[in-house]
Amino acid sequence: MCFVQIVVLAGGTGGARFLRGVRAAAPEAEITVVVNTGDDVTMHGLRICPDLDTVMYTLGGGIDEERGWGRAGESWTVKAELAAYDADPSWFGLGDRDLATHLIRTRMLDAGYPLSAVTTALAVRWQPGVTLIPMSDQRVETHVVVPDPETGRQRAIHFQEWWVRHRAAPDPSGFVQVGVDAARPAPGVTEAFASADAVLLAPSNPVVSIGTILGVPGVREALLGSRGRIVGVSPIVGGAVVRGMADRCLPVLGIEVSAEGVGRHYGARSDGGLLDAWLVAPDDRADVPGVDVRQVPLLMSSPEATANLARAALDAVGV
Ligand code: GDP
Ligand code: CA
Repeated sequence: MCFVQIVVLAGGTGGARFLRGVRAAAPEAEITVVVNTGDDVTMHGLRICPDLDTVMYTLGGGIDEERGWGRAGESWTVKAELAAYDADPSWFGLGDRDLATHLIRTRMLDAGYPLSAVTTALAVRWQPGVTLIPMSDQRVETHVVVPDPETGRQRAIHFQEWWVRHRAAPDPSGFVQVGVDAARPAPGVTEAFASADAVLLAPSNPVVSIGTILGVPGVREALLGSRGRIVGVSPIVGGAVVRGMADRCLPVLGIEVSAEGVGRHYGARSDGGLLDAWLVAPDDRADVPGVDVRQVPLLMSSPEATANLARAALDAVGV
C-alpha cells in the first residue's frame, strides 16, 4: 500500500498544535516533521531541545496543556534545590519529570549518538504518530542582538535568555544562527522532502522557527525540490500574533506583522520563493502575487478547529 507522505516544518507550540490537526485530518498519511533546534540550549550541563520536546510531548499526550510546554503534572523540586544553591541560571524552568528527558538526551549525546538518533530513541516512549527529525544534527543556536542594559552596547545573547529571562523586552536588532555554516540537514530531511506529496509550513514563528530551519544550508533547496506542493499557514491573525513573540521578530527583518507581510516574505514558489498556497484568516486580506491565497479559520481553539485547518491546508495542496 502506498501512503500519502506529508512533511511539516515546525517550531514549538504553534507547530505542535498544528501537527495534532494534521494527524487527525490525515490519519493514514506518513507524516515527517522537521523541527527547529535553534532554541536548543545547555543548562546545568543538560542539553535541552524545547521545540522537539514540545512537539514530542504534545503529540505523545504528555504536554502541560495550559502552559503549552513541559510535562503535565509537573513538580519542581530540583528547581527549588538549585535555587537554594543560588545556581545559575535560575530563570529557566526545568521540571522534575522533564529533567529525565534531558538526562537521557545528554547521556546519549555524550556517548556519541547524533541528535536525530536521540530523538528517535526518546520518541519510542511517546509514540507521537509522526517521524520527528531535528533540522540538523549539528549544533545551531539562535542568538539575539540586543542593547546591553548597562553599557547600551549591542551584544548577542542566547534566544532563551532574551525570551524567557527578559520576556523579549530588549529591542532586538538582529538574529544570528551560531554554527549554521557548518550545519547540514539531519539524516532523513532531504529524503523526506524528495518523496513528499505535500509540504506544510506550520503557523510557527517565521523568523526563529521556520526561518531557522530554512537557514540550514541545503534545507531550502531540498524543500523546493519536492514534487509536492508547498502550503504555509499564517501565524498572524488579525494583524497580531496568537501567542509568542513573532511580532518582536518580524520587524527586525523588515517584515510587516500581517498575514500579507509574512506571505510575501515566504514568497511565491513560481518567483523564487517557497509558497504554492498560503492560508490566512477570514478577516485578513493578503495579496501575495503568484500564490493561491485562501481564507480559512486559523485559530486552533479546539481539536475540531485544528483538524479543519489542517484539512484546508491539505486541500490547498491537493492531498
Ligand atoms: P514556539 O517555538 O513555542 O514559539 O512556537 P512556534 O514557533 O511553533 O509557534 C509560534 C507561533 O504560533 C506564534 O507566532 C503564534 O502566533 C502562532 N500560533 C499560536 N497559536 C496559533 C493558532 O491558534 N493559530 C495560528 N494561526 N497561529 C497560532
Ligand atoms: Ca521555539
